[in-house]
Amino acid sequence: MKITVLTLFKEQFDSFLNTSIIKRIIEKGLVEVKVVDIRDYSLDVHRHVDDTPYGGGAGMLMKVDVLDRAIKDNRSPNSYVLLTSPKAKPFIQEDAYRLSKMDDIVIICGHYEGVDARIDKYIDENISIGDYVLTGGELAAMVVMDSLMRLIDDGINADSLKEESYTNGLLEYPQYTRPYEYDGQEVPFVLTNGNHEEIRKYNLKMSLRDTYLYRKDLLDKKELNDEEKELLKEIINELKQEN
Ligand code: SAH
Repeated sequence: MKITVLTLFKEQFDSFLNTSIIKRIIEKGLVEVKVVDIRDYSLDVHRHVDDTPYGGGAGMLMKVDVLDRAIKDNRSPNSYVLLTSPKAKPFIQEDAYRLSKMDDIVIICGHYEGVDARIDKYIDENISIGDYVLTGGELAAMVVMDSLMRLIDDGINADSLKEESYTNGLLEYPQYTRPYEYDGQEVPFVLTNGNHEEIRKYNLKMSLRDTYLYRKDLLDKKELNDEEKELLKEIINELKQEN
């Protein structure tokens, strides 16, 4: 896969691309990342990339001609072009899976007051990382890149992806590591007894419990099987007794 980022602030990507799992994925050759300075596509002597909005209003807008040149010079016929923007449905894990299957992605980072609306003609999709406004699209681009790069085949251990949050419509169950007892808190005994079926059932129950507590909206969307329905009933009863 190839990912090309168009930005005014290339340096923001340095540590992201040179750290931990993302660095390893690039070193393995699974993803080729190119970070391009949008300013290189400004034609005026002062290298302007933005201008005041027609009709007035605060701030500066990034110019569509500069961006169009940057896109044209860095895309291939089969590139999928994303514009970071708060004007979209929030990005979710399903989107990360969908984008991880693509061969060639271009991500444009807006800045200042945003981007001339005529950019729409040159992009395939707006990508928002949540219902809030950032100063620029760089962090959003890194969030999108991070979430999709780890899903690429051989990117990380496939077993880690199987049970994690959002993969099956639930949040992941709580996990523990040594020491067995810390500050009066013990690891649930069932996780230490080596009975795989009991552990599976316990983890499923805890996964349902956390989803019920923190993201009930996900449970409303998911079709539960009989075992899950039964476990959820138990959870709701237990929570009632706790209160
Ligand atoms: N005036 C715009 C916000 C501009 S913020 C508005 O009110 O809609 C400047 C840039 O930051 C945007 O062009 C976009 O690239 C990026 N950005 C801001 N919030 C974002 C979000 N939630 N998700 C993705 N990108 C975002």
